[in-house]
Amino acid sequence: MIKSSEYTLHFCCATRLRGSPAAPNHLQFFSVQLEHFKVLRVIRMICHPAPILCFLSDNEHKLDMCTRYWSMAENGTWAEKVTMLQEESGRSQRELLALIAASCRTYINGIRCHECGERPEVGTRQQFIAISKAFISNRHLHRCNACAQAAQARQMADVAAEEGRKKVQLSELLAPIEARMSLVDYGALEYTEAFFLYSALLAAGECWQGRHIMSVRVQPQNLAPTAEMATAIYMRLYDEGIIALSSCSSPKAFNVVDEAAGKFTFSPLEVAWTLALPKNDMPIEGILASLEKVLAQRDPATITQLWSMVAEAECERYFGELCTRYRFSKEVVFEIAP
Ligand SMILES: [Zn+2]
Repeated sequence: MIKSSEYTLHFCCATRLRGSPAAPNHLQFFSVQLEHFKVLRVIRMICHPAPILCFLSDNEHKLDMCTRYWSMAENGTWAEKVTMLQEESGRSQRELLALIAASCRTYINGIRCHECGERPEVGTRQQFIAISKAFISNRHLHRCNACAQAAQARQMADVAAEEGRKKVQLSELLAPIEARMSLVDYGALEYTEAFFLYSALLAAGECWQGRHIMSVRVQPQNLAPTAEMATAIYMRLYDEGIIALSSCSSPKAFNVVDEAAGKFTFSPLEVAWTLALPKNDMPIEGILASLEKVLAQRDPATITQLWSMVAEAECERYFGELCTRYRFSKEVVFEIAP
């Protein structure tokens, strides 16, 4: 009697309640007076899912348009083309939809929000099909917009709470380490360390304020030609105790392995850093001047080493780009290189 379409929707014909000479026997009609919506008549189609029309008018023409717009043939298609209704009524599609929206409310029978039980209200055939298809592909579950928004808000609150918890956890792990940092005489650093720190601070730009250096990922300038070199620079400064992990870092940059034992791993380019306090009561703003003094004492052997390191990283970056352009595999090219 009622066919399933390829969408596995059950479609059926709708017929006007009043004046219909012979309503198809697979349709059930009933009238309901809902004061709130001033619903005059309701046609319910027993198919599943199917439109339920709540008429808001008793104008024959308007009811005719509503019913014909929402009527479906047994082969699973809409009974009449919208263009036909437009031609007959002399209205544009927009005007026709406006008339229908003002004359009836349309719900989907067979679909209810699985949280609050509300039936979805639709204004067009496209909305009807979209919600019905989503309902079917979602294992016959539908969540209304209000419930979806509430669920999203709950999820965001959970995420925020979890982030807050991780922040506290991180702070408890890192604060003691930060507090134990030794004072550093920035004017007595080795050439390489001074070179690395100077470069790191300049690249950080406004992302360096006082003792705080934001993560490399948010810094405006590239510190080094490759991410590997930037990582190596920060890790060298970290290993030498010149910078420490900041408890202001994003918890996402850390992976706590054993909280009780204080064991964790971190992503060097994602974490934020704290500069060690300078020795001799030197203001933190004076660091650059101290580093410039160290760099002024040229050390040819170290400069050659650093130059090689930078040149090699520049080549790697350049050839990496070429590999992408010519669709070579970067790994293979570097393997076959002499
Ligand atoms: Zn709901």
